[in-house]
Amino acid sequence: MSLLDKLVEKGLLKKDKAASLKLEIEQSGRKEEEAILESGAIPETDLFQAKSEFLKIPLKEINPEKINPEILEMIPEETARYYQMIPLAKSAKDLEIGMVYPEDLKAQEALKFIFRRQRQNYNVFLISLSTFKNILKKYRNQKKEVGMALEELETELQQETVKKKSSTAAEFERMAEEAPITKIVAVILRNAVEGLASDVHIEPTKTKLRVRFRLMGSLHPSLFLPLKIHPAVIARIKILSNLKIDETRVPQDGRFSISVEGKSIDFRVSTFPTTLGEKVAIRILDPTVGLGTFEDLGFEGRNLEILKQGIAKPYGLVLSTGPTGSGKSTTLYAILQLLDTEGRNVVTLEDPVEYFIEGVNQSQVRPEIGYDFAIGLRHILRQDPNVIMVGEIRDEETASLAINAALTGHIVLSTLHTNNAAGVIPRLIDMKIKPYLISPALQLAIAQRLVMKLCNNCKKEIEPKPEIKEMLLREIETLPLSIKKTLKPSKNLTIFVAQGCEKCNKMGFAGRIALFEILLMTDSLADVILKEPSEANILKEAKAQGMITMKQDGILKVLRGVTTIEEVLRVTEEKQITND
Ligand SMILES: [Zn+2]
Repeated sequence: MSLLDKLVEKGLLKKDKAASLKLEIEQSGRKEEEAILESGAIPETDLFQAKSEFLKIPLKEINPEKINPEILEMIPEETARYYQMIPLAKSAKDLEIGMVYPEDLKAQEALKFIFRRQRQNYNVFLISLSTFKNILKKYRNQKKEVGMALEELETELQQETVKKKSSTAAEFERMAEEAPITKIVAVILRNAVEGLASDVHIEPTKTKLRVRFRLMGSLHPSLFLPLKIHPAVIARIKILSNLKIDETRVPQDGRFSISVEGKSIDFRVSTFPTTLGEKVAIRILDPTVGLGTFEDLGFEGRNLEILKQGIAKPYGLVLSTGPTGSGKSTTLYAILQLLDTEGRNVVTLEDPVEYFIEGVNQSQVRPEIGYDFAIGLRHILRQDPNVIMVGEIRDEETASLAINAALTGHIVLSTLHTNNAAGVIPRLIDMKIKPYLISPALQLAIAQRLVMKLCNNCKKEIEPKPEIKEMLLREIETLPLSIKKTLKPSKNLTIFVAQGCEKCNKMGFAGRIALFEILLMTDSLADVILKEPSEANILKEAKAQGMITMKQDGILKVLRGVTTIEEVLRVTEEKQITND
């Protein structure tokens, strides 16, 4: 009896489907499991459950994050990859081994061989193919991989010097195309993407070539490389981004995209000559990091509902506001992506273009040649657009054009520099927009700040100190009743603090999320705007309608363990923006 028969017997697979799979497996010589999974005939969990019953070997589901990287070393990576077997856990006596193919005699022999030498007892469990692949990733170690590539390079260089004495620019160019350098650059980029870095800096120092990653806003050294490979590494990046290799005295800008783990990632490259040589800064434009779902960005509950409601209208102005680096353009891109449908003409005017979105007509302003937001906007309006994104409204002319576009049946997205959502209206009035035009044009004003997200793997739940608890309760008191009802009773109030673990590079945090405050235009708010549009009055009306402030949104995220109270206070009590 084969696994296929077992699947038919269990009613998971139809007889004729099994027969055709059998034929395919015989002809291709592939593993049954792989062929079955690829055919999509049954889900992986069902397949491995059946296999577990078939072989009478227990199936183990395990979170790869729970695996201690040290025990992985008990089976060398190459062996693990080849036989698809991997250490899972170790107790005083036994080692647990997960195998995708425990029935494979060669794999069994390899296990015996490895552990006889180590005098180690072990137990075998069945694991699914995807569990195996996920654990296998834990073997990856940047330093080790780069170290190996460097050794390879060293050997090559030694062979080279026998033949020739000096290294010319052409030499570096050739070297840049060769396996070790290509590999080093690929490993750096992959690690940056996987580590959710936003930027990579590769810069010469007096003694080393330093690689730093920007993680959640601050730079961390990631790797030091021998200075002698500096020209080849820079040349490799220039080749990728189509820059002039021999031009090292002036800054150059370019971009390239590569596929990391099956996702296409854009990199924006900028070179800069320093006294020690050229440095390179690479901005990672991972579309899945920047443009997650609205939930990933931090919209939830009432805010999410209002957002969806506000952008469902066929026209109107949506303004995103906050200081530089608060993620406001990411929010606009996420909205833009949602509005970008076949039937719509979507045009943008940006400075600079940060993400490429399939199907959107994106253009960059060039104020130095007179192509600024206002002029660009006039041109765009002749392009029969449905949705327009304007990078920023910073002058009266752009403000007035944006309002008019919104009033004449376009969806207009833009950013504005204000502290909070309520501040948008007085700011527009400052920019000479007539109050009676604001309410019909403006749909939403979204204010936001970014906070660091607690690492889910190591965050710790604690009872807040009395003064913090008091402050939390005070804020909770002002929340709309519908939200208050969903919270724990005040005596059980808990918050979370950062710890630090392997998974988060001992930072205690992983990634960032936004705190939002969304103002929705309503009839009663329109009245306030016509009568007495001060920020205080607008805020009062918005709160009466149930608007959640950024601080309140932050507190809700603190109570759910998304971030810490310190983070929320840091961003909501920072200096006020002055209108420059
Ligand atoms: Zn952690």
